[in-house]
Amino acid sequence: MKIMQNRMDRGFYKYQQEFEQKALEVLRSGWYVLGKEVSAFEEEFAAFTGAKYCVGLASGLDALWLAFRVLGIGEGDEVLVQGNTYIASVMGITINGATPVFIEPDEHFGMDVSRIEEKITERTRAVLAVHLYGMPCRMDRIQALCKKHHLYLVEDCAQSHGAYYKGQMTGTFGDVGCFSFYPSKNLGAFGDGGAVTVKDEALARAFKMYRNYGSEKRYYNKVVGANSRLDELQAGLLRVRLKHIQEITEERQAIAAYYTEHLSSPHLTLPKPPEGTSCVWHQYVVRCEERDRLVQYLSEKEIGTIIHYPVPPHLSEAYGYLGYKKGDFPVTEHMADTVLSLPVYNGMTKEEQDYVTDTLNRFR
Ligand SMILES: *Cc1c(COP(=O)(O)O)cnc(C)c1O
Repeated sequence: MKIMQNRMDRGFYKYQQEFEQKALEVLRSGWYVLGKEVSAFEEEFAAFTGAKYCVGLASGLDALWLAFRVLGIGEGDEVLVQGNTYIASVMGITINGATPVFIEPDEHFGMDVSRIEEKITERTRAVLAVHLYGMPCRMDRIQALCKKHHLYLVEDCAQSHGAYYKGQMTGTFGDVGCFSFYPSKNLGAFGDGGAVTVKDEALARAFKMYRNYGSEKRYYNKVVGANSRLDELQAGLLRVRLKHIQEITEERQAIAAYYTEHLSSPHLTLPKPPEGTSCVWHQYVVRCEERDRLVQYLSEKEIGTIIHYPVPPHLSEAYGYLGYKKGDFPVTEHMADTVLSLPVYNGMTKEEQDYVTDTLNRFR
């Protein structure tokens, strides 16, 4: 049996008729950018998360860099972020000229809250909490620290659509929640897309201005903005997917629960969400000291896996200018050397799940 790490086609075919009908409706409407699909999606997504406002954007990266831009964070400012994140989180900070200050992760892949305060300086302006793999960070403690030190709180929810921390959805704890709708995300479009969630009306207006060349009124530009508009086709298709998000999430949770129940190899450390969270399992990430041998073994058995992420941002070529070297963030680096994302996708059959667990349990 051949198993790919992800199968986005299955997620399409499950709701094929609805997607195709909506696509035709938008194509035939004659209106393709910033129209009624985008407005409706923004309202529905805000309601889903419990945020007051949502503003659709062109990507998750845009949501991140525009968040720091709108909050006025740039040159000379520092933003705290966990070291083991996807590099886009860090680019959201550095595109504005601000400096990322890396925090080691805890055993749940989130920011280690006990290591935040030692990194706060008079230049620190914000914390970027990344709910990596769909596992929420410890938001009550992060919120309290931000309040105590007068820091903005931004959430990277690109992997956590629908994840709860103590009954509250990720994306509503901080000043801005940043979402990506890249096709492989839990709420995926059929191309690029993103959004922010905010509770402040003035902030929502600012995002709407920035996404459209810095104008509120056409051809009257107040700030140097961007072209970062969610298009009507993606918004329409996202509305279809959003209607089914509960089912999509529950299916992923069932696959994760199956893995957790049936995986018994002593070579593996299984993922464990922090207490009080509802994890949405964007990825099911195991840790293995002999990770590269495991990848080889699984690929011989035709099981696809992905490493999220093999090079931590502080060691990437792109951030060579920050001057870090191997050994500066040992927890982060050890994670990069040991993590492995198993296949998890909507429409994964029981046979496929069994094949993965049986094969893994036979790893010697
Ligand atoms: C996917 C992702 C992003 C970037 O989103 P894009 O829509 O691809 O720009 C940012 N942060 C994290 C954690 C992600 O997984």
